[in-house]
Amino acid sequence: MPGVRVRFAPSPTGNLHAGNVRTALLNWIFAKQQNGVLILRIEDTDQVRHVIGSEEGIATDLNWLGIEWSEGPDVGGEFGPYRQSDRLKIHEEYAERLLKEGSAYKCYCSEEELQMEREKALANGLPPRYNGKCRDLAAEEEKKKISEEIKPVLRFKVRDGEVSFVDLIKGEISWKLDNIGDFVILRSNGMPSYNFAVVIDDALMKISHVIRGEGHVSNTPRQLLIYEALGFKIPKFAHTPTILNKEKKTLSKRHGALSVKHYREEGYIPEALVNYLSLLSWSSESGDDILSRERIVKEFSFSRMSSSSAVFDDDKLLWMNGQYIRALKSEDLLNLSLPILENSGYTTKNLEKTVKILEAVKGNLTKMSDLPQYVELFYKSEVEPDGAAEKELIEKEESKQVFNKFINGVEKYDEISADDFKEIMKQVQNDTGIKGKNLWMPVRIALTGQSHGPELPMLIEFFGKEEVVSRIKKVMGS
Ligand code: GLU
Repeated sequence: MPGVRVRFAPSPTGNLHAGNVRTALLNWIFAKQQNGVLILRIEDTDQVRHVIGSEEGIATDLNWLGIEWSEGPDVGGEFGPYRQSDRLKIHEEYAERLLKEGSAYKCYCSEEELQMEREKALANGLPPRYNGKCRDLAAEEEKKKISEEIKPVLRFKVRDGEVSFVDLIKGEISWKLDNIGDFVILRSNGMPSYNFAVVIDDALMKISHVIRGEGHVSNTPRQLLIYEALGFKIPKFAHTPTILNKEKKTLSKRHGALSVKHYREEGYIPEALVNYLSLLSWSSESGDDILSRERIVKEFSFSRMSSSSAVFDDDKLLWMNGQYIRALKSEDLLNLSLPILENSGYTTKNLEKTVKILEAVKGNLTKMSDLPQYVELFYKSEVEPDGAAEKELIEKEESKQVFNKFINGVEKYDEISADDFKEIMKQVQNDTGIKGKNLWMPVRIALTGQSHGPELPMLIEFFGKEEVVSRIKKVMGS
């Protein structure tokens, strides 16, 4: 497909959440697959909702996820400027053209008048569309409005008939235009409306595919009419299914959707988030869940996207993140861990020891922010049982028998390996007749204080004989 140009066009209204960034990701995947270009355009014309610093935040989030763009406010490009507020002159020019060509008109209706009209329509069971009052304003009346210094908005004249397009995910969608009132393209303060600016910018930036959330489907007929009126080439559209949270509500900041920043700070692996987000409403033909970025780019297709909503399942993401942590190379895990360990006050000077600790706990981690909690037992010289149940278990008579026999077994060795440990435990089982959870759990709790954690044989080797004996003796009270 020659000349694929796509864009991610966030409004700087706060942190990106999973839904926004999924749109960015799909644009990136498609551009990459088609050897196309991804453009970042900041849609900052809504001054009221503008949150200072969010543009930088968006860039940080995208960079963290490896979503690179080749044109944008920071890197420039042939079709800039890429910040919508720097394009107001361009929007104005096209609005003037529509006015001159008779496709738009000035509307002087006040907000109160419009509100009354809306209420009237709703009371009559009609859609609250603009009634077209200023469409054919008599010259006299217009003069009067001007003399009263009423600043008009510019409205687009919606034609009769229908409009339709073929969505790459949803198939053909069409609308009867009699439900769509003449809509504002330029506000009285000169700011363009979203529906207007987006078309001008997409067309001038030569966007070939508009990939965005399905919340924008209902905006598309208005946008198509503007394309039509200005004779612009209409791009292809792909509206991606909404992402719902577990309560089946649309993922949105208002409903507390988790931000990308949150996932970054909690120590998620970016590749895991990319993998998880790509699988919302899409699946690989192979049915595989764990997919590298390269495979996603290669295997992605709109035709395999479902048109129904996807549910964002934090538990599945967490599981997937754990898989990615497990697959990290020792060196990468170390690099990710060092700042976390140091922030928690653990000394990491002995890198060899740190690597061993990390390897021991790797299997238990689902996110990197859990690390301090899991490594604690390696750094402390004494551990306390984590909770009442753990305390009760190690105080049981049966557990004391296990400890006694265990110490006897350990004392026979100069040093204990993982295999020696397994041998010792077999012997304890034979001698006491205690097995399964009742045999292993007291030892685990005595050594770590916790009822789950790293594999015991690995732990034993790490601690060495003396430390093992000392920890067991400690809980035996001797
Ligand atoms: N700024 C719009 C948004 O964040 C972009 C919509 C679009 O992609 O057309 O929803």
